[in-house]
Amino acid sequence: MADAGDTAAGRLSAAELDRNFADIHPPLDRKQALIEASRCYFCFDAPCIEACPTDIDVPGFIRKIATDNVKGAAITILEQNIMGGACARVCPVEILCESACVRTAQEAKPVHIGALQRYATDWLFEQDLQPFARLPLTGRRVAVVGAGPAGLACAHRLARLGHVVKIIEARTKAGGLNEYGIAAYKVPEDFAQKEVDFILGVGNMMLEFGRALGRDYTLAALRRDYDAVFLGMGLAGVNALQLDGEMLTGVMDAVAYIERLRQTPDKAKLEIGRRVVVIGGGNTAIDIAVQAKRLGAEDVTIVYRRDGERMTATGHEREFAQINGVKIKYWARPVRLIGHQGRLKEVEFEYTQLDGQGRLATTGDRFTLLADMLFKAIGQTLVATPLKDGSADLLEMRDGRIVVNADRQTSLPDVWAGGDCVPGQDLTVSAVQDGKLAALAIDRHLRNA
Ligand SMILES: Cc1cc2nc3c(=O)[nH]c(=O)nc-3n(C[C@H](O)[C@H](O)[C@H](O)COP(=O)(O)OP(=O)(O)OC[C@H]3O[C@@H](n4cnc5c(N)ncnc54)[C@H](O)[C@@H]3O)c2cc1C
Ligand code: SF4
Repeated sequence: MADAGDTAAGRLSAAELDRNFADIHPPLDRKQALIEASRCYFCFDAPCIEACPTDIDVPGFIRKIATDNVKGAAITILEQNIMGGACARVCPVEILCESACVRTAQEAKPVHIGALQRYATDWLFEQDLQPFARLPLTGRRVAVVGAGPAGLACAHRLARLGHVVKIIEARTKAGGLNEYGIAAYKVPEDFAQKEVDFILGVGNMMLEFGRALGRDYTLAALRRDYDAVFLGMGLAGVNALQLDGEMLTGVMDAVAYIERLRQTPDKAKLEIGRRVVVIGGGNTAIDIAVQAKRLGAEDVTIVYRRDGERMTATGHEREFAQINGVKIKYWARPVRLIGHQGRLKEVEFEYTQLDGQGRLATTGDRFTLLADMLFKAIGQTLVATPLKDGSADLLEMRDGRIVVNADRQTSLPDVWAGGDCVPGQDLTVSAVQDGKLAALAIDRHLRNA
């Protein structure tokens, strides 16, 4: 008989699951928002603006909240960042605007900029208002590949500027990782789709679902048929551990599992191991570990090959994992996946250290962890094959990403790119900024052509 291992669905009751996947940061009410807004010094040359990748006028919108002009506050935010609602929920503010807030240096308690941003943008969404108008049609058409944060931000700005935009999206829903990847408790209640509807509400955009560059379109054809192209295709590939046993049942890709978790209507039906091991050091590792725990896994351990300071997950995220009962083990890497009857049973690790030149080396000392499931969270990669048709041979790539200039223009003069598929910080807010800057540059290019 096949060994089913200690993996099971429904480890927790429906009520426990509802609680575990509810909003981790409940919204501010009006009184709380007014009190929080009153803590802002409305600094001249405010460092929080400088720290925001989308240049939101933070003191400007906080002042509007303080004077009960919530609509004005929301417009100030959305003018710079059309995904201000998502970013208020998912931005690592502890390393961006809130870390730069002067109150952080003064009293280690920043103005809660993210919470105030959410207060204003949620208010606007609740009123079902469409604050942006479109300029007259220019007669120009732009193709956008990918309906993630980068593609949607680019498409929205182009549409407002009067261009007609066709968005080609390989999946059946828009939103990219906001819909399929971000931890469920950060964006509950179908927020990602509400935001997509709001963005598309400005008009001039046609979305084609289930159509992919590389399969249904070539880059050469898009360049021929449209006045400009924006590539916002994210990182669709995942890195492998390159160990024997990677095909064992129970060894999974973290992003694929999170996608199932985000899309399932009933989390009680998702199987999760009793003992879970996560390999990686970024936010994906933290997210899968915490969500595994919240699905009812008893023992969840993240193993990372370096120390906490070198993890890309922020200190705040690491602390959040530990509060959720996740263990983090540093200085070790997996060397063997041990199975029984085709199913993962144990993972063997080797301790690591830095050698005299600061390079990662193994020590020779080994240990094993029992594991019913192992999640790989060791990074994603750009799937570049869709870009490789005749004309795209000229598309310059470096370190597996598309090379762009400050305007997010690629080496092809009519092709722009942004978000995770170009070098930079892999964050929602950076993808939105890339999309916005590319749209402004495309608009200048089309008007001057
Ligand atoms: C598990 C996880 C958790 C994260 N958590 C956070 C967080 O808490 N905070 C934060 O700021 N960031 C987070 N990020 C990062 C953030 O989600 C990304 O930086 C952001 O989504 C990048 O946006 P994008 O538009 O470039 O790519 P994506 O969001 O990946 O969107 C790309 C879109 O292109 C489509 N596509 C791909 N290939 C093709 C093709 N050939 N043809 C047509 N369409 C195609 C995809 O289906 C997708 O819809 C997380 C990432 C992951 C993986
Ligand atoms: S740095 Fe802090 S106090 Fe100053 S304007 Fe920004 S949010 Fe307000």
